[in-house]
Amino acid sequence: MMTKRVRLSWVAMMVAAIFFIADAFSVTASAAQKVEPSKLEMTAESTSPVKGSTGKSSNPMRDASDEAKEAAETVADASKTEDVSDKSDDKEDNKSSEEKETVKSGRDVIAAEQKRKKRDFSAKPEKMIRVGLATGQSMAAISAGDGFVVRDESTGKGLEQRGKGETLMVTVRDHQMMLNGKAVSARKIRIATADDRSSMRLTYAGNPYHGEFVIVLDGNTLTVINEVGIDDYIGGVVDEEMGADWPIEALKAQTVAARTFAMYSMKRHDDEGFDVCATTHCQVYGGISSESRNGLSAVSATRGEIMVYDDKPIYAAFHASAGGWTAGSDEMGLDAVPYLKSVRSDDTFAPGCHWQEEVSVNDLSIALRSNGYAIGKLKKIELSPLDDEKVSKKSEMAGRYPSGHVKTVKFIGSNKTVEVDGYELRSMFGLNSTCFDIRYGTKSSSKPNTKGVIEIKHPATDHIVFDGYGMGHGMGMSQWGAYKMAQTKGYRDILNHYYTNISFKKLF
Ligand SMILES: [Zn+2]
Repeated sequence: MMTKRVRLSWVAMMVAAIFFIADAFSVTASAAQKVEPSKLEMTAESTSPVKGSTGKSSNPMRDASDEAKEAAETVADASKTEDVSDKSDDKEDNKSSEEKETVKSGRDVIAAEQKRKKRDFSAKPEKMIRVGLATGQSMAAISAGDGFVVRDESTGKGLEQRGKGETLMVTVRDHQMMLNGKAVSARKIRIATADDRSSMRLTYAGNPYHGEFVIVLDGNTLTVINEVGIDDYIGGVVDEEMGADWPIEALKAQTVAARTFAMYSMKRHDDEGFDVCATTHCQVYGGISSESRNGLSAVSATRGEIMVYDDKPIYAAFHASAGGWTAGSDEMGLDAVPYLKSVRSDDTFAPGCHWQEEVSVNDLSIALRSNGYAIGKLKKIELSPLDDEKVSKKSEMAGRYPSGHVKTVKFIGSNKTVEVDGYELRSMFGLNSTCFDIRYGTKSSSKPNTKGVIEIKHPATDHIVFDGYGMGHGMGMSQWGAYKMAQTKGYRDILNHYYTNISFKKLF
């Protein structure tokens, strides 16, 4: 265990990362319609491979209505995914290891892999997931610590065999795929290690991954997909979302949430040929180089476990910190979901949980106007006060949900009065959460809002401060709340606290 000082500073660094990743699950609705399209671009379009490619740190406002819609659609998709129960029987196990010689197609390779896992773990075969590592590529470099084979996915025909340490360069010329400079007619290829028992892993762009690669020719570019077992995938996800030195029960809770989210997101990118992307749009996945020993033990301790409601994977939203109370799904402009309700979250101790954002009245007016609220000269802002006590005490207040998160803020101008949703304001000003108060003045000299009315005296020079708690949309599990609970509780207690009325289910 690291010293507390080291851990805390490391943890503080993680907070920012956690916020952006957790926020990928943000599903604010209509707010994003008023954000310019460039801010809504999905990183699945990114041309660089996963790690460090999201560029999200400059864009805290990417909560997208599209995501909300997709999320709703994927509920249906998730419910349509095939039955995950084990339908295979054991007769296949009697085949000898020579079967690898008779592998006819990539699909068979996958089947062989599943059978191998079955033998190894005496359990149901692990469900596979197709992770889009990159789209729009002009080339892809694949290598392995061992020999590997390349097959045409549609015919099963072997196209290439590379030896240990050799690289396969896949490029495109005139809408045709090229393997090490040689044109092939295949539009989709599968790359697997020559010996499915090999512990050596394939690498893409220098990063090692479990499972196999599928490369698809899409017009004049390439899409690189990693087909991998769910738990191998989760192992490369969990440490991107939570620090490896966090309490093990918090890591287990994160693992189950991430696995549930993956199941919920199955086929989300089906039109691009894969299930999930490897960025914050779905979940950040870094393959083997993102794994840690603690993360992997959390994965194996919760092997195949997900949360369900009505026997379907839930929308397992999570965020860095809630600021006292989590937000119900209805607070984000979504339909009320039975398992995303506002609950107490002991996390105001978290680094960065208390935050301030200063805005000049001039900038505020410009932002309101460009978002369709032409109110003239701003005179007053109405929002019921949020004091520290309210953060820890659930109560009904004007303009707020019982959780304290802002429902609407009233802006009174010389031309008209408008009410703006809290999540819309969050998006407009890049606020860390919707649990905030508005104060008159600057960061260093702001007066607390005691009356619920903020008078604007000199619109040309005045400032206001958004003074808030929490990082992220506030729905579902608070990671810092989980950190705290993990001192005394188990991961299922944590999940049962943040997701109400759910059940646990073993997929494999
Ligand atoms: Zn995605």
